[in-house]
Amino acid sequence: MSAANTLEDHVRDLAMCERCPKMHRPSIVTGPVQSKVLLVGQAPGAREPVLGRPFAWTAGKTLFRWMQEATGIGEDIFRQRVYIASVCRCFPGRNPKGGDRVPNEIERANCRPWLEAEMRLLQPHLVIPIGKLAISQFMPVGKLVDVIGVNYSNMEWQGFRFDLLPLPHPSGASTWHRMEPGKLLTVQALELLAAHPAICAL
Ligand code: SF4
Repeated sequence: MSAANTLEDHVRDLAMCERCPKMHRPSIVTGPVQSKVLLVGQAPGAREPVLGRPFAWTAGKTLFRWMQEATGIGEDIFRQRVYIASVCRCFPGRNPKGGDRVPNEIERANCRPWLEAEMRLLQPHLVIPIGKLAISQFMPVGKLVDVIGVNYSNMEWQGFRFDLLPLPHPSGASTWHRMEPGKLLTVQALELLAAHPAICAL
C-alpha cells in the first residue's frame, strides 16, 4: 500500500486506506506538498475529519502560533510548504476515561508504511515529531525533558538521514509545555527550529 511513485498517487492511496477496523475514517491527509520539512503528529482528533485537514482545531491553533512566533511563518504558508503527517492518519475515537484514544500498537504498525513511503518520496532534511508517540517512532523516549530542546543532527532511520527536532504536543490536555522546565525547553526547541536551514528555506 506504500509503493506509489509520486506524492500525488501516495496521497490518493492514503485517502482510501481502510486497514484499521476501529479507526474512524476518512483518513486525514495533507495535500501533496513537496517539502524538505516533514512534521509528524500523533493522530487526528474528532474535528479534523469534519474540517478535512490535520491540526485543524485547538492543538493546531497552538502549534501554528508557536510557528508564527518562532519563524514568522503563518498557518496558511506553513500548510502550503510543510508536509504534515502523523503516526496514525485516522481519528481513533474517544477514550471512555477521557480524551482521545491513543492508537494501539497494531494500528501504529498498520500506518507506519505510509510514513516510510513519505520518507522515500520526500527525502526530508528536517523531521519534526510532535509529542511522545511521534518522537518514539524515530528514537527511544524516556522523558520529554530529555529530548525537547535538542536537534538530533544527521540521524539515521530506516536508511534515511535527516535532522530530527522534537516538539511537545500542543494539545490543550497537556500541561507539559506550559510549566517549567517544559516551557523553557519548548522555547529552546522553537529557537533551534527557526534557525534550521530547512525552515529558513521555506
Ligand atoms: S490509521 Fe492509517 S493504516 Fe489505519 S486505516 Fe487509517 S490510514 Fe489506514
